[in-house]
Amino acid sequence: MSVNLESYFHLSCRTEYGLSQVVLPRRKCSDRTDVQDRIAEVANALASVCVAQASGEVYAVGIRFSPGDHLVIYLAENRAVPLETAAYLKDILAQLRAIAKGQPVAKESPILDEAMTDAHAQKLGKTILKHVFKKFYGSLTKRDTVWDTRIEEILATLSTDSNKPDLRIFEKILSALETIYKMAQYYNEMKSTQHFEQTTSEDWLLRLYSRIHRLDTLIRRSQDKSQVAAVLMRIDQDVPNPYISSESVLENGPDLDLDDNNALRPAFSMTRFLYRIIAISIHMQQLISIALSPRYKAFFKNDAKIQCCPELIKFVNVKPQHVISKLPKTTPIVAEKHTRRKEVWVHAELKIFMALLQETFEGKPPYWVIGVSNLLCVGCHTLIGQAFPWVLREHPHTVLSPFAIPGSHGKIYPWTAPDLSFATGPIGFNMEEVIRHNMKQRMEHTLKEYVMGKPSSNSVVYMEHDVEEAYDCELLGKFEAEMESFKAQNSILSV
Ligand SMILES: [Zn+2]
Repeated sequence: MSVNLESYFHLSCRTEYGLSQVVLPRRKCSDRTDVQDRIAEVANALASVCVAQASGEVYAVGIRFSPGDHLVIYLAENRAVPLETAAYLKDILAQLRAIAKGQPVAKESPILDEAMTDAHAQKLGKTILKHVFKKFYGSLTKRDTVWDTRIEEILATLSTDSNKPDLRIFEKILSALETIYKMAQYYNEMKSTQHFEQTTSEDWLLRLYSRIHRLDTLIRRSQDKSQVAAVLMRIDQDVPNPYISSESVLENGPDLDLDDNNALRPAFSMTRFLYRIIAISIHMQQLISIALSPRYKAFFKNDAKIQCCPELIKFVNVKPQHVISKLPKTTPIVAEKHTRRKEVWVHAELKIFMALLQETFEGKPPYWVIGVSNLLCVGCHTLIGQAFPWVLREHPHTVLSPFAIPGSHGKIYPWTAPDLSFATGPIGFNMEEVIRHNMKQRMEHTLKEYVMGKPSSNSVVYMEHDVEEAYDCELLGKFEAEMESFKAQNSILSV
């Protein structure tokens, strides 16, 4: 009985609390070159600063640039990109262009380079904070349910040391957080009232941004930063997460410590919480540093064009019960009983993937990077990060390259593969068919591993690179065997 690929993405998991989402092992980001690394930072930052809603909004970004030409930014959301987001991103790019060109901000002193950059940074910080405020405020207030108890616990633990150096560091962080919390709360209450004049509102945003920036400096760039890192490590030692010391905003972003109501679980990670708060400052630094970098200075200096990918819906027939029949009897994975025709959005990352392939076939190759505002789901990561590079290794003579992408949070969402029929002509084989076949094998393999009881639903174990290699060899073996049997059958037929 053949299972179609989309059926793998309509499964649930039976737990002691009832049915829940299937969460597979997390995966790390792909290997990348230095240039891909730098461009990926920019692409991730641009995607992240587009998110205006507190939840449910996901952006992906692709970048193409040829010297002397325009900088082209491809922007996609799971649905359509709102017009105001496209206009806002255009403003951000214009501000970065002014920074790259060293243009003074009106009314600020253009004498000192540093002062000029500061004025630009403040303006940019304000613009971004205004756009992402709902998201930022959502992250900040998610702490409310368990915050007090957790803080009391931490303070009690740190107070037992003899001269309390860790306690003093933590109190510094706490006081910075409290100020940010109060300022954000005030701004949130006031911003919709008539009494809040435009200039006062802008002034508050600026002050709030500078507080966030100061907290970021304390955590990542101050003299105390190694001590801060040690204290956070100590505080979070019971939180099972291999990324806990990661400086990546994305890795610290996924809400593994949030329950379904977006409330914090008792064992939440202080590090991840802090990284969500300072995310805006981290993204700003990344954008500004590339605008000022001598090596990349031309990058933002050119006119920027934004190309928004439209909403893309596909109707798919799913038979998730067929997937279950391929799994061991002990499986906690369950499926809807009936075959269904479902409406599924092609995810933002896949729309960027399609757009960049299309441009390449037209002789306009991009940076082989896809930036995102959140880690990838299982479907997108399996396609772009695993099946696609595998296909390229099997067919080395295409004009295509693997994309550098972030890791996957391991969650399975309703998903559908994009229509890649446009690629068949230029590359001479049916890439969609090969990718689908490879993905089905990978999904079946991963689900079987999952059922064998290795990872729990909250596990953060991920597949190491060498395991992945071994797995690729195993898949290749399978393909070769299939090919042999196909040839054998044909030769029998021809006899
Ligand atoms: Zn996805």
